[in-house]
Amino acid sequence: MNSAERLRELAIRREAFGWLDRQRASGKETFTQEDTSGLTLAGETIRLMPTQQGIWKPGHLEAALSIRTVYRPEGSARPYDDAVGRDGFYRYKMRGQDADHHENRALRTAMLERLPLIWWLGVQGGGYSAIYPVFLVAEERESQQFVVDIDQVPQLDINWPSTDLELDPSYRQQLTKMRLHQRPFRAAVLRAYRTSCAVCSFRHGDLLDAAHIQEDSGGGRPVITNGLTLCKMHHAAYDRHILGITADYEVRINSDVLREVDGPMLRHGIQEFHGRRLMVVPEQRNQRPDRQLLDERYRTFLNAG
Ligand SMILES: [Zn+2]
Repeated sequence: MNSAERLRELAIRREAFGWLDRQRASGKETFTQEDTSGLTLAGETIRLMPTQQGIWKPGHLEAALSIRTVYRPEGSARPYDDAVGRDGFYRYKMRGQDADHHENRALRTAMLERLPLIWWLGVQGGGYSAIYPVFLVAEERESQQFVVDIDQVPQLDINWPSTDLELDPSYRQQLTKMRLHQRPFRAAVLRAYRTSCAVCSFRHGDLLDAAHIQEDSGGGRPVITNGLTLCKMHHAAYDRHILGITADYEVRINSDVLREVDGPMLRHGIQEFHGRRLMVVPEQRNQRPDRQLLDERYRTFLNAG
């Protein structure tokens, strides 16, 4: 690849990531084929997602621009876990058996030229969320797969566990699994709650989290029924057992905190929710919070109080 070609590849990627950043800033987390087609980036009309297979290389580029993994509800407890290696890096399968298939060559070009890609991960309930930039860092040709690094750039709007705590390869493997599903989990849970805090119905996407009912580290699954959309304040209160949610979707506040006297934030933001029902739950019954998981978590809240 000559330097003009490389600059063109980089320009399109830079504009594609900028477009995704803006979408995300406006609260959009889940994308369809249609949303990501017919864009004008770096002066060219382009789409960002493959239509048929998992690998997408636009006709006028040399390197693959994106890869895609569909959501798989059945089987594995977490949809993307099966392909995380012991070293903690994800493996992306080549297309078919032929390592020199043009789509596999396009992936190899991205790897050799160190060009970042977009990785589309299927979201429970439909659509895809985007992890970007990701890099292909090695090829395992005998296993017909590439090694993917998703850690080059921190994803500021989600709570990824820190790699500073990295202890051993199995821990790193666990972290990668947790990180990999965080983005599509957030997209699915925010959509199910119509981008509103379940407790207070606050609707500013930048200040909303997809909280786990059963903790990720405790084996909690990244599915909508194990999630709650909570604003930053209520997420922190839930995690610190200041706020509990019963199996009947009622909010409880820790008794010591109920007696505290402070300013309006404590009174209106926390204490007044004691005894109220959740203000927002998913419209579809099969997406509402799992009552058994809520109950287990609620017992922890009671014990902490
Ligand atoms: Zn809230």
